[in-house]
Amino acid sequence: MAKRSKRYTPLRLLTLSSAFLLILVTPYLNMRFHFNFIQGWFQSLSIGNLWFVSPLEGLESILTSRSIYGPLLVGMLTPITLALLLGRVFCSWICPISFLSEVTDWIIRLFTRKKHRPFGLRLPRRVFWFALIGEILIALIIGAPIFVFLSPPGLVGREIMMITLFKTIAIEGVVVVIVLAMHVFSKRMFCRYFCPLGALLALIGIKRRLIIEADLDECLKCNMCKRACPLGLDPQKGEGTSPYCWNCGKCTEACKASALAFKWREF
Ligand code: SF4
Ligand code: SF4
Repeated sequence: MAKRSKRYTPLRLLTLSSAFLLILVTPYLNMRFHFNFIQGWFQSLSIGNLWFVSPLEGLESILTSRSIYGPLLVGMLTPITLALLLGRVFCSWICPISFLSEVTDWIIRLFTRKKHRPFGLRLPRRVFWFALIGEILIALIIGAPIFVFLSPPGLVGREIMMITLFKTIAIEGVVVVIVLAMHVFSKRMFCRYFCPLGALLALIGIKRRLIIEADLDECLKCNMCKRACPLGLDPQKGEGTSPYCWNCGKCTEACKASALAFKWREF
């Protein structure tokens, strides 16, 4: 039987906020105090001698430059291992787009005193995979790593750096505004259907160890979990084990019957 789950939202929001704070203050610390122990943002982040590279940007660079740079592969190792074990938790627990989406929801709630209710537009789930394939094909055709320049999570870091160092913003930042505005049509629309990085992380984590287990004997068929899922998944039908699930834990909190819980899948 699935065990009653804890509340994960406070911890997730704390992690998202801390990750955002990291990329917010890093350029300022670099510039004002020459504190260079931490540099970059979530596309390419260095902490001391450790270097973390976003897998999609790394893959794109390898494919478009047709060369393999050893340190780049090492930099991609930690995010890939994380995705292999936990799935696309970068998306729900770290990504600045997720943080800004939570803030956007909170602002809407504050001003309208209502929960944000998007139009509920649904697209076929396979659009997600086409976004990844399309992005890689375009990068190969034009011979340039486009996601390095236009990745919404990366653009957030780049805009913060531009504002801090040059007191200006880059025009590409409009992509972030568009991504956030897409929430009007469906919850986390960009992350659900169009983010090539999210799709790559989902693909890497297709056999991930951490899943959402459903106990159908306990299920009340109330659909509270489905309503709570930011990605429109139906965990009681096993979609918490699907590659699309980003292990945010919201469904487990919404379930009053304790029918859903995180579970480590055995090797
Ligand atoms: S899908 Fe893309 S933008 Fe959305 S949370 Fe994941 S990496 Fe960030
Ligand atoms: S199924 Fe549950 S854990 Fe997975 S994304 Fe939806 S709410 Fe989050």
